[in-house]
Amino acid sequence: MKRILISETLKSIGHEVKISGWISKRRDHGKIVFLDIRDMSGLLQVVVVPGSCAHKEVESLRPEWVVSITGKINRRPEKMVNTELLTGTVEMEAKEIEILNEAKTPPFEIDKDTKGVDEELRLKYRYLDLRSTRMNRNITLRHEIIRFVREFLWDKNFREIETPYLTKSTPEGAREFVVPSRLYPGEFYVLPQSPQQFKQLLMVGGIEKYFQIARCFRDEDQRGDRQPEFTQLDIEMSFVDQEDIMDLIEDMMIEMISKLLPHKKIKTTPFERVKYNDSLAKYKSDKPDLRADKSKRDELAFCWVIDKPVFVRSKSDGKLVSDHHPFTMPNTEDIDKLDTEPEKVRAYSYDLVLNGFEIAGGSIRIHKREIQDKIFDLLGVDHEEKNRRFGHMLEAFEFGAPPHGGIASGLDRVASILADEDVIREAMAFPKTGDAKDPLMGAPSPVSKKQLDDVHISLKSEAKNKAIERTDTETND
Ligand code: ASP
Repeated sequence: MKRILISETLKSIGHEVKISGWISKRRDHGKIVFLDIRDMSGLLQVVVVPGSCAHKEVESLRPEWVVSITGKINRRPEKMVNTELLTGTVEMEAKEIEILNEAKTPPFEIDKDTKGVDEELRLKYRYLDLRSTRMNRNITLRHEIIRFVREFLWDKNFREIETPYLTKSTPEGAREFVVPSRLYPGEFYVLPQSPQQFKQLLMVGGIEKYFQIARCFRDEDQRGDRQPEFTQLDIEMSFVDQEDIMDLIEDMMIEMISKLLPHKKIKTTPFERVKYNDSLAKYKSDKPDLRADKSKRDELAFCWVIDKPVFVRSKSDGKLVSDHHPFTMPNTEDIDKLDTEPEKVRAYSYDLVLNGFEIAGGSIRIHKREIQDKIFDLLGVDHEEKNRRFGHMLEAFEFGAPPHGGIASGLDRVASILADEDVIREAMAFPKTGDAKDPLMGAPSPVSKKQLDDVHISLKSEAKNKAIERTDTETND
């Protein structure tokens, strides 16, 4: 018999079916045994009565064993209905149980919410943690969000394009992960902090409407709820203004919430707009939480923060630095202030804030070489550095770059807020710990001397002993 999903048992009342999954719980009531069986779609109560073939097997069964069970789906008696469960109106009367695999006792309980369990332990055994109902729900919601945005943007004629992960530095303001090159001794690739330069080059390439579900890498000290790698919905469009991009994202969010989470209420549509300076003055924050009652998770208060400055002064040395990134277009009304009062120049940039968290940020870009040169000059980037780091961008602007702009939205954050979670790790399948480690894979970890030699790296004395003498077995070619 072909296995069906547990969620499908609702349509099979009165029929014999086969389900497969894990034993979430077993309860013995005298000789009758109740098993809760879990698969990707939910939980089903299975009753094993004395005298059935299945009863012989049931004695040995323990939580997390993997089984296939054949049996009849019955409607539950009225007083046994469990409204908390999707399949709470039905149960299976087991006929046959096949054991597919046994399991050791898990290091923590999976049939309960695992939030209270030590996080390092949860991440070391993430594959067990993912079996828990809340984690399964969060990861499924994340998948639905990604599926929704893909379909939404495909329908609007966007091209989904992958940009390189092995690349060169791009200025988003964080430290970068470097990857040594084996073929070119002493040279390095850099993992992208975002696809910013490539997406702009795609616009020069005539693509006009680009998006990507892109992984971004930032080697920052682990402040708060940040991850060294995270996922952005990255968008860029040609021949648009700020309003076009804000409208697109606003429509996408509204449609997404009504489709995936209809019980959530958006506080105001169109989304409120707050000028950056007003936000600081009124809310003492550039990420205002506009909910009347901040404990209400089902209320979604979106707002756009606009008119941010092009430059801010660095706290350490007083130099001008970009507020967003150096490709951001200054507001044409303020261009004449670039030389005299650069900090007063507003940018064509916009951040989308949801319940006090920045969930997207973007800008209209500079597409003319003279303006881009000017911005680099004001940032104190000298001629040599400008050509070395950004020569390719400046050159591209000279080959008919169209006016363009874009935005990127942190999908981990979006998924965690919509899943009612406080930290983004709860909406990621395999996040790093707060101190940037992966306890499951054991990363980061030392590599062999041979691997270091291959990439022409010798370690400084304090790190030297970490390189591994042995060479690992080649497991593929
Ligand atoms: N690349 C920017 C970022 O990662 C977003 C954008 O300007 O589109 O913040």
